[in-house]
Amino acid sequence: MIIVMKPGANQEQIDGVVHRLAEIGSEAHISTGQLRTVIGAIGDRGRIQQLPWGAMPGVERAVPVLKPYKFVAREFQAEDTVIKVRTAQIGGGVFAPIAGPCAVESRDQLFRTAEAVRDAGATILRGDAFKPRTSPFSFQGLAEEGLQLLAEAREEFDLPFVAEVLDPRDVEMISGYADMLRIGTRNMANFALLSEVGKVHKPVLLKRGFTATVDEWLNAAEYIYKEGNHEVIMVERGIRTFETSTRNTLDISAAPVIKAMSHLPVIIDPSHSSGRRHLVTPLARAAIAVGADGFIVDVHPAPETAQVDGDQALLPYEFAELMDQMRALAAALDYTI
Ligand code: PEP
Ligand code: MN
Repeated sequence: MIIVMKPGANQEQIDGVVHRLAEIGSEAHISTGQLRTVIGAIGDRGRIQQLPWGAMPGVERAVPVLKPYKFVAREFQAEDTVIKVRTAQIGGGVFAPIAGPCAVESRDQLFRTAEAVRDAGATILRGDAFKPRTSPFSFQGLAEEGLQLLAEAREEFDLPFVAEVLDPRDVEMISGYADMLRIGTRNMANFALLSEVGKVHKPVLLKRGFTATVDEWLNAAEYIYKEGNHEVIMVERGIRTFETSTRNTLDISAAPVIKAMSHLPVIIDPSHSSGRRHLVTPLARAAIAVGADGFIVDVHPAPETAQVDGDQALLPYEFAELMDQMRALAAALDYTI
């Protein structure tokens, strides 16, 4: 149940609702919007519904939420969530270009890529120190040494960075380095990991599971949100279909679908969805046209030597060309980039 307060309801009236919920053993989650406060009530639905909410001072209405997720739903918060990552912004009319190598392989590879994507206009650097590989014999990442290199690159190029977290036991350590965490497609339904990143104060990029419906994906976001971390960004990265001409099928409709169902920002990954370099630029351009709040793109200075995902990495000059096109599209579509 969501209890919508009247515009201008005062603190005493809000406290009154919270107190009433506590009396029947229910939890209140408060969302303070620009116009009004909305209170999510979690507990025995029957008991919550029985209370005469319309008669309580400051309450406008009580809305039953039929979906299993509540806090990430549009009904809970009408305004878009806007997320700041140090100097960068995601959402609120700002398109966030996130770019960098799939994996950190060496200082030289990372620094060359970071400089190139910064010069081209990326606002956040990507690079992983822990890689979820299909084969246990493939390169697994440089672990903490990779994070140290990313932290150095942040200082050198003035770019916040995002890195993947694979294991609940690493959340604290990785949060000590990274400005933003990423949950990968294979871990979207790892509820222990979701709850753990829900406890830290770092924004989280939540990739869609490659076999997950939008509902399942929003429920995964709810696991993070519910623990107190409200800075969740949804990432559409392609789903598995019968089509084999691309690595995954980019569900471009997911961007406007999420926008309608949720207040969370949504970004597109044209690299892991297509898996092919020549498809990355057209799909990245589509991101801004469908109303996404950013993209995350693999870039590598020498993709033929890449330890991971070389087939889909843009060369630095290709990324720079893409960014020129993005600036033209942003101007036409009234975005800041
Ligand atoms: C990645 O972004 O490097 C990655 C592993 O992506 P995904 O989890 O979407 O496969
Ligand atoms: Mn990758």
